[in-house]
Parts: sequence; C-alpha cells; structure tokens
Amino acid sequence: MGNINICLRESTRGLYIYNGYTSLIYHIHQSESQQIKNWILNKGRGYVELIYEKTIGAGWHIPIEDSDLSISQILPSSEKWKNDIPNFPLTINWLLTGSCPLNCTYCYAEDLMRKNVENPTQNDIIKIAQNILTLNPLVVVLTGGDPLVSPHLITAIKLLKGKTGVLLDTSGYTFSDKIAEICKENNVGVRISLDSIDWTINNTQRPLKNLKHQRKRKDISRELAAIKLTLDKEIPLIVQTVLTPLNYDYIIELGDYLNKLGVKVWRIQLLQRPSEKIIKSEYKIFQGSQGKNHDYLGLIQQLKFRSFSVWGNSMSIKFTENRTANRNSVILVSPEGKFFTEGNESKGKILIDSENPYSPSSKSLKKFINHSGHLMRYLNIECNEKAKTNSIY
Ligand code: SF4
Repeated sequence: MGNINICLRESTRGLYIYNGYTSLIYHIHQSESQQIKNWILNKGRGYVELIYEKTIGAGWHIPIEDSDLSISQILPSSEKWKNDIPNFPLTINWLLTGSCPLNCTYCYAEDLMRKNVENPTQNDIIKIAQNILTLNPLVVVLTGGDPLVSPHLITAIKLLKGKTGVLLDTSGYTFSDKIAEICKENNVGVRISLDSIDWTINNTQRPLKNLKHQRKRKDISRELAAIKLTLDKEIPLIVQTVLTPLNYDYIIELGDYLNKLGVKVWRIQLLQRPSEKIIKSEYKIFQGSQGKNHDYLGLIQQLKFRSFSVWGNSMSIKFTENRTANRNSVILVSPEGKFFTEGNESKGKILIDSENPYSPSSKSLKKFINHSGHLMRYLNIECNEKAKTNSIY
C-alpha cells in the first residue's frame, strides 16, 4: 500500500484525524493516541479495536462498505470527551472565488462574493495558501462562490495536497469528468449541495443567477449527475442539504433517494438567517412557516429511526445547527486572502485580526474564534449529544 489519505494532528489531549476516504474528522483520546498513531504510520499493521478499523480505517484498512460511519467521531466514546483547545484549526474554509453561477436564497457568503471582493491572481493564490498552511489546519475546504469556476482550482489543490486534508465544496452545477479526475488523482473529497429531490423545491431555494437560464431550468439533472459521477469514481462524497420550512416535509424522501444511490455521508444544516447586510428579498419565502424548524430534534429522531429501520445504518447523517451564539466558530478566508469569522447576532463577517488581516496571530484566533463551537461543529458533538439527551434549545 502506498501513502494513505489520512491527515493527523496532535494536541495535548489527544489526536485529531481526518479520514480522506470518508471526509470525516475524528478525535482520539490521549490514552489511545500513541497506539492509533503507530497503527496509521505502520499502514494498518498491528492490532486496534474494531471501532477504529470501522471509522479511521474506512477506505484503506477495510472497504468503505464495511465501515460504520454512524459511530461517534469522538473515540473510543463520547463519554471520554474533554473540551480541548488545539493550537491548530480543524477546518479552514477558503473562498477561492467570489463568482458563482447560483444565487441561493439563503446564501450567507454574499458579503465575500461578487462585487464585494476582487478575485485573486495566481500569485495571490500562492500567498494565501502559504498563510493558510502556516496555521497548520487539519482540513481546508475549497469553497466560494463556487470553486469550480475559479481558474486557480488546480493550483490551490496542488499547493495544499499532502499538507492538509482537502475538500471541495460545490453546488455541482458545473461539475465535470475533468474535475472528477482531478479530485481522484489528488485525494480531494467532494461536498455537493442538494436540498430536495423535487426540482421545484431545490431550484426555488437554489436558483441560478442568470434569470433567463433559471426560467428554463426544469430539473436537477446537473446536480444528480455530479453526485453519481463522484460515486462512480469512488471519490469521497458528502451531500449537503440546507433544512428549511420548504423542504422539511421532503427530507425523508431525499434520504431514501441518497441511500439508494449509495451516498455514505449526508450533512443536514439548519437554515441560518444571513446577516441583515446581505439578506435577499427572496428570503421571505422561508418566513411565516419557521415554526417547523423548531421540531429539529423530532426530525433527527425520525432520520435516526429511518436509518436504522430502512437504510441499515449505512449512511452517516451529520447535523449542523449554527446557533447564533456559535457563529464565530468558523474560519473563512476571502478570495482576497483576508481571514474572517461569522459575527454573532447576524452582524455579518468580522475580520479576525485587523492588524494582520492576511495572516492572523494566534492571539487573535484565540480571542475571536469560539473554540468549543468549532470543535462541536466539525466533530458533530452538539447534535449527537442533543439527540442522546433529548434536549432542545
Ligand atoms: S452555491 Fe453557495 S456560494 Fe453560490 S449562491 Fe449558493 S450558497 Fe452562495
């Protein structure tokens, strides 16, 4: 076996691992870190418990079909979790471009897109990649806008490859064989957005920017082709769905469809109101029926039951809620290379370090980033715990 697509980082309380075959992040308790590290460095030789083989070993030690991605991302169990502040980010979201063929009703990146930013040059991309890698992130998500329309996508992938995990976040609208090949060759996972299998719902929430094309768009064939192509090429895939009052009643149906296709990881993100500066008038389609979102826990339970009873637990379902108080849990790098986080109380993006906007100091990161929110988000702690305790905010 050649090099395996696993990225490791150590902290005082344990080990963080990105499995590039499933695009999931795991935390290993310090008592077992050394053993797991040795196991990975020895490419799976030696003994580890089955729980590690079925999660961290998925895709290289055991086939994906034999994995169990529904296992907690805190290992060996979530009871062992102690809040940890590692001195590196688990994930940095790099907006490679401000351009995007879509104009999603709920888009919360508009203040770092289109006319609000300058798209980078090749030299900018090299500098931005260096600044990102200085922070030693476990994973970099290439996003936008839509990174597929950036002329620098391949350069960015090559600059990051082997130094951090890389995940491509796209609408899938312009996905192609060529992009699939690039992802496959460079161990890049893909996250594709799909909000409903009913095209009228999906395309209402996620319309095209070009109105003439949008009027003619009567299906979701491009998004589905992107998902199928990614699965065919055995590229790690996450399907992402924004849960809104419009698609709430159709989520199980979407899950049935994704499961039939063979999707292994499905991320459901609760609708987040964009900041007042960028909210679109079309956002009003979600208002008036917001009450449905309050039964978020009920939906989690329904999905867990469906997963157990119909999908054979073969699909891992991740929930992200983005509570207002936790908004500053993400790190966003704008197309110009400035580091931002999402401000609290819908105030929009805030610069992490106004004195060093392109290369924030660790002091500023500590001050501005909500570290427990960051860990909860990427280790999927919050929703697992909520579903277990039956509590809701
Ligand atoms: S695809 Fe993403 S970046 Fe583009 S409009 Fe939709 S949410 Fe915004």
